[in-house]
Amino acid sequence: MAHAQDDAPYYWDVAVPSQTQVDIIADAGIEMVPAGPGTVTIAVDEAVAQTLRDRGLNPIKRAPVYKPLPPERRAPDDTYYGGYHTAADMLRHARDVATKNPGIAQVHNIGKSWLAERGTGGHTMNVICLTGIAKQATDKEKAAAKATAQPDGCALSPSSRKPRFLLTAQIHARELATGELAWKWIDYLATGYGTDPTATSILDTTEVWIVPVTNPDGVDVTASGGNRPKMQRKNVNNSATPPSCAVVDGSGRGPGVDLNRNFPVRWGGDSRNPCSQTYQGPRAGSEPETQAVKNLYASLFTNQRPSGGGDVPDTAKGIVIDLHAYGNYGIIPSNATSKNASQLRALAKKIVPGFIVGTSEETVGYSTTGTTDDQAHGALGLATLTIEIGPNNTSACGGFMPRYSCVDSTFWPQIKRAFTTAAQSAGAPYKQTPTQPNP
Ligand SMILES: [Zn+2]
Repeated sequence: MAHAQDDAPYYWDVAVPSQTQVDIIADAGIEMVPAGPGTVTIAVDEAVAQTLRDRGLNPIKRAPVYKPLPPERRAPDDTYYGGYHTAADMLRHARDVATKNPGIAQVHNIGKSWLAERGTGGHTMNVICLTGIAKQATDKEKAAAKATAQPDGCALSPSSRKPRFLLTAQIHARELATGELAWKWIDYLATGYGTDPTATSILDTTEVWIVPVTNPDGVDVTASGGNRPKMQRKNVNNSATPPSCAVVDGSGRGPGVDLNRNFPVRWGGDSRNPCSQTYQGPRAGSEPETQAVKNLYASLFTNQRPSGGGDVPDTAKGIVIDLHAYGNYGIIPSNATSKNASQLRALAKKIVPGFIVGTSEETVGYSTTGTTDDQAHGALGLATLTIEIGPNNTSACGGFMPRYSCVDSTFWPQIKRAFTTAAQSAGAPYKQTPTQPNP
């Protein structure tokens, strides 16, 4: 073990005065988060930092990815790194909530993860729908009927009386807070129905659908690191993985396909290197997790694009949010018409006030293809938003792996307000006052 290199991941700031430096980092298969003009933050180990130095860059080490753990951990359960839930626990939690609250919640299976499809472990993926009970009732009656009545909706079919808000979380496994926030949103609605006026109003007027974990195999890898969660971002499809990146390491390089670069709409503009953090996969929609989400969009929403092309009309319903970390961004689709983009920009500013809002080019500073919002907006005309929760700083709440206490103290109040606004906008998401003049 002598001379063993430090393989722990760190955040580094790298000056990128021109596209040349951005390309060097992208070619190395590393994801970037903006850190002010001409600078990006990356999360890699010392060995990768050295390869970037060899190519003329100057990464400045800022902080370790792993935060100091709180002195006491909870009693042994299905959590890791101070309280984060495993994929199995998140899937079980959705089923448990539906079992306890059949009057307002239903779970549907939506497909298998890559490992499960091959019959070698993995998970059956699920989505939970929450909506109010079918009959008129007082709040007290609603609270009591949660355990007995029937939900007014939640059928896995595109025709629904109430507008729908779909949240997908943790498609990138290492973005730890995202799955926890989906969990808390589920609990807030299920517990609050009949007692909390906002939760009650949301469920009486809206169907809220939540995929608690979109990349369960990847989360298993991340959680297997325990108090040093592994930097797995992608799914675990290793069929194209060369020996050089057969195991995910502190660089974040490793096996798998980036599910948020694998969707069919606009697929093909990202990395073809199977080791890259943003490997797009061998072909459009190649991964079972991608198929599950794509099919879920089509099961829940009608195509609202006009047949002759042009703008999605103001009467379109439904809203889709894909939750990521980090950077405090509200990212709108890159494939919207200028009128729709202006409307979605206004919608995003309402949902995440204080975050930087724009297309991925305008926010994270580089183009992305084959993403959830490319698919949901491009194929069906849905109002779609990618939220990147969490600051890019060295505080306990910064980065991919915030201290668990940050979920409650910092992120939940922010995201509860954001999800509430989204749910309340689901009936007419495009009816916004444009924030830029239309030509
Ligand atoms: Zn992400």
